[in-house]
Amino acid sequence: MIHPHPSSRSFNQVCIDSSALHENFSKMQQRVGRDIRIMAMVKADAYGHGMVQTAVRFAEAGCDCFGVAEIEEGVELRRTGIQGQIFVLLGFQPSQEQLFFDYDLTPVIFDYQAMDLLSQAAVRNGKEMDFHLKVDCGMGRLGFRPSEVHEFFARLEDFPKLSLVGIMSHFPMADDTESTQTMAMFQHYKKVCMQSSQQTPVICHIANSGAALYFPKTCCDMVRLGISLYGYYPDGAEGTQLAREKKLVPAMSFTTQVVQIKTVPTSTGISYGHTFVTEKETKLAVLPVGYADGFLRSLSNRAQVLIKGQRARIIGRICMNLCMADISEISGVETGDPVVILGSQGAETITADEIAEWMGTISYEVLCLFGNNNDRNYT
Ligand SMILES: *Cc1c(COP(=O)(O)O)cnc(C)c1O
Repeated sequence: MIHPHPSSRSFNQVCIDSSALHENFSKMQQRVGRDIRIMAMVKADAYGHGMVQTAVRFAEAGCDCFGVAEIEEGVELRRTGIQGQIFVLLGFQPSQEQLFFDYDLTPVIFDYQAMDLLSQAAVRNGKEMDFHLKVDCGMGRLGFRPSEVHEFFARLEDFPKLSLVGIMSHFPMADDTESTQTMAMFQHYKKVCMQSSQQTPVICHIANSGAALYFPKTCCDMVRLGISLYGYYPDGAEGTQLAREKKLVPAMSFTTQVVQIKTVPTSTGISYGHTFVTEKETKLAVLPVGYADGFLRSLSNRAQVLIKGQRARIIGRICMNLCMADISEISGVETGDPVVILGSQGAETITADEIAEWMGTISYEVLCLFGNNNDRNYT
């Protein structure tokens, strides 16, 4: 008799709530208004949520526009049957330009080399190529400086097969509701857009989640949303103007399980370096999760997890694949019991914002770390 293979399954599972993705997209569409298009940012494997699966969920919610970093991601989205417009934000390497034509991808342009390569490819293909221009109005990152844009518009006629159909920029601090920088930068951006619309009308987009939530006047024709679609607020909190509204729903949870329980006497050093020494008899749960799984070493002696619906502290250094939780105050724990690292259990919840605070970072990084280093499944 042939036995089926038992499915291989890690102790550590990232679970993505598909309905939360759907709900967040709908809520954000409602918030920005029906006539403003949403580009769902699915770069970095959709912030750890899985690019293709997530794009499918957003498409089901009505999304017809996706943003990725590299062209390979755009190709993968198309190959798996994603429809709608796909923007490639980080350009491309020489010899990749044909992929824009083969897979109907929209390039974002920030230099003349890309213009040359795309233009030659357009001639070879006997096809026009629409593109969006990236302008750096204050981020200090990718894009033409506003002072360089005039010359760019003048040189456009050198590339007759390329059509400028959109102008985008990016805010550096739209999550800071107190800052005047965002509206000041928006005025610069609008001037750039007006310069071009004397020649052809273009689609304007500059707002990320922070801008869409806290500076709605900046939404223009389209918004590029990432973190809000995954259920988090970019400032790690909920702005006061949102308090009355229905909240976004975090889509990711991360769970492990207890592999051993033991009681150690007082004065026992725990884990590498003995950075924790027990001050009383202590009951430990050994957990098969560590920094290789994105549960970073900097969380040692800081993080908490949920066991039996209660918070337990991580004590001692987090190892590559193991760590220890103090369960002295939690009764009835058994080997195999589920342990929530991110998400809810009983009445308790640990959010990516809370973990980010322990790590000294932002929710974005926590989601990427957990999501992109573990098995993912979808409900
Ligand atoms: C990632 C990204 C966004 C989305 O930002 P969120 O803060 O996650 O909404 C928007 N625009 C650009 C250019 C990005 O790289």
